[in-house]
Amino acid sequence: MSFTDFRLHPTLLRGVADLGFEVPTPIQRAAMPPAIEGRDVLACAMTGSGKTAAFMLPLLQRLLGGRKGATRVLVLTPTRELAAQIEEHTRRLGRHAGIGVAAVIGGVAPGPQVQALRRGVEIVVATPGRLLDHLRAGVASFDKLEALVLDEADRMLDMGFIPDVRRILGYLPRRRQTLFFSATMPPPVVTLSRDMLNAPAAIDIERPAAPAVGITHAVYPVPPELKSPLLVALLEGAALQSVLVFTRTKHRANRLAEALERRGFAVARIHGNRSQAQRTAALAGFKAGTYRVLVATDIAARGIDVTGISHVVNFDVPNVPEDYIHRVGRTARAEATGDAITLVSPDEESDLRVIERTIGRRLERAKLEGFDYTKRPAERLEIPLAQRIATIRTRKADERSRARANAARRGGYGPARPTRVSSR
Ligand code: AMP
Repeated sequence: MSFTDFRLHPTLLRGVADLGFEVPTPIQRAAMPPAIEGRDVLACAMTGSGKTAAFMLPLLQRLLGGRKGATRVLVLTPTRELAAQIEEHTRRLGRHAGIGVAAVIGGVAPGPQVQALRRGVEIVVATPGRLLDHLRAGVASFDKLEALVLDEADRMLDMGFIPDVRRILGYLPRRRQTLFFSATMPPPVVTLSRDMLNAPAAIDIERPAAPAVGITHAVYPVPPELKSPLLVALLEGAALQSVLVFTRTKHRANRLAEALERRGFAVARIHGNRSQAQRTAALAGFKAGTYRVLVATDIAARGIDVTGISHVVNFDVPNVPEDYIHRVGRTARAEATGDAITLVSPDEESDLRVIERTIGRRLERAKLEGFDYTKRPAERLEIPLAQRIATIRTRKADERSRARANAARRGGYGPARPTRVSSR
């Protein structure tokens, strides 16, 4: 089967050819025919399956007919990175078709978005929060909307966006085509899909609980304090060329990135506390090869598509098996091969067993030859909480005594000491 079999407009086929797509992926083969017919679609498919083109090509085909000057397609997606990626992908697919697309996301100045919405840009790719702001301010009007895509519905649920999605639905015409994508189908997502879809073509391409084929998985048992040195040792080997590293928290992402930088690695970071400009620069630098390592937390990295990632490293074992599947899905995309490495400390073994049960197999344990598993680490990744609290207390006590001394010098009384009030 080839893309010409879908009877796509020649301008779209040129866009497909520019991107180097020769054969449609399974999700494209299954979802495009009903979507081109104008039917609703309910698809269980993961990022990396080619789903963006699966929903966007039929919608671009629809937009080629009809008039300009109004927003006719809305794509809702959970993260800014994914929105930016879909916008870029759409721009490239529709390059020869002259169809306008704009991303409406938080973390960037709203001015250009307001202009695009007022102008009636044909395709809007949005994250729910920022779009709701514009809708409430009366900036966006979707009276002429013909199609809605809900992307990564399960992650919308995880991130607490379902109420916002429902609010947005209240601003959209009831008569429309809806394409609904989710990697997994937890009950609230099923309920939402029932509320949104009308006699959909149901497509289940990849079993939700299975990572993509072509990935080799290795698990390195290691004491928690040696995770950082072990990662350094792994990076010192030549095999890990372009590495996406996941940590459990933003704090650990920062500390790990700093530790790797000190060891001379080119590292970028991406997590929720970084500004949109910082995240964009990190991703662009990683894609361009300026950074060999990208350290990320789950939410920020969900769905990001970087071709040529050689390895995904789970610096921490994810708490939920779905996150493992999504994380390792960043490698071995579009049939390349890649390796997933998980560093597991003894207290994470039980989480790992849940993952093994979910994916239906035991993951191979590995040991790095020549690495000293008994050594004491030169630096700690995290300062224990009790120690952090003690440091803060000491600092505050110093500040108070300095303030009192200053006040005494000025002849005042200084801030009153807190008095204990007895209830007796
Ligand atoms: P997506 O699931 O839409 O994020 O796509 C994942 C990756 O697969 C992207 O890098 C796409 O450019 C690529 N891709 C999508 N469709 C095809 C195709 N038919 N052939 C080759 N690569 C594709």
